[in-house]
Amino acid sequence: MRIFDPHVHMTSRTTDDYEAMAAAGVRAVVEPSFWLGQPRTSPGSFADYFDALIGWEPFRAGQFGIRHFATIALNPKEANDPRCREVLELVPRYLDKDAVVAVGEIGYDSMTPLEDLAFAAQLALAVEYDLPALVHTPHRDKVRGTQRSLDVVKESGIDPGRVVIDHLNEVTVELVRDTGCWLGFSIYPDTKMSPPRMVELLRRHGTERMLVNSAADWGRSDPLLTRRTGEAMLAAGFSDDDVDRVLWRNPVEFYGASGRLDLSDADAPADFAGNSIKRGGA
Ligand SMILES: [Zn+2]
Repeated sequence: MRIFDPHVHMTSRTTDDYEAMAAAGVRAVVEPSFWLGQPRTSPGSFADYFDALIGWEPFRAGQFGIRHFATIALNPKEANDPRCREVLELVPRYLDKDAVVAVGEIGYDSMTPLEDLAFAAQLALAVEYDLPALVHTPHRDKVRGTQRSLDVVKESGIDPGRVVIDHLNEVTVELVRDTGCWLGFSIYPDTKMSPPRMVELLRRHGTERMLVNSAADWGRSDPLLTRRTGEAMLAAGFSDDDVDRVLWRNPVEFYGASGRLDLSDADAPADFAGNSIKRGGA
């Protein structure tokens, strides 16, 4: 089973995770820039974080034979902090980088006017830089947040086929299904989606434009839930080809629209023996 996790925050994970992911078949990941839990107080903190997402983290992933790409944006939550406002001026510099395959995570947290501004401005950047966009839907008031996100996407004029609306569930999937946008699902241990619920959604809605991610981060989460979903699909009667489509070909198609998804040799078996990070004396 070859797996492309289209949304996982590896900065928050350990090398044990990378090793387990590689063993489970994960060969490529996209790491969206997001909120780190601790609020940042200056644009410089974002610059260092963005640099890590296109520098250090791909290097770390490479130790385990995993390709690492990033999406860059001012996230919705911190868009509310006036001290972070200048990050919007910083973002374009990163949208030119080869390792950046989309603008994201953008969207809503609490649906404030400042979030409106950051969301619309960054959708315009996606259009300007000819990149896909990753839209996070809020955890609270999800239906209204999803509907409003779809309205803003429509107003922006971006091709809906280059937008993923993420963190959907059984209710919000209905709002997005016929919009032409891609549908993202985060499989979580307790909340959001579980593998059996995801299988049921795939049965009901098919595999087209469906993206499954672990969204693993600094909270209780599990980067192997992509693999568990593939296994649950097979157990429910889906074919190997269906699983490959959802867990590999769909994310390759979606992020491939950036023109920057270099996956050459990503099908080669991972070989991380003797390839570990060299540190003096360690
Ligand atoms: Zn995320």
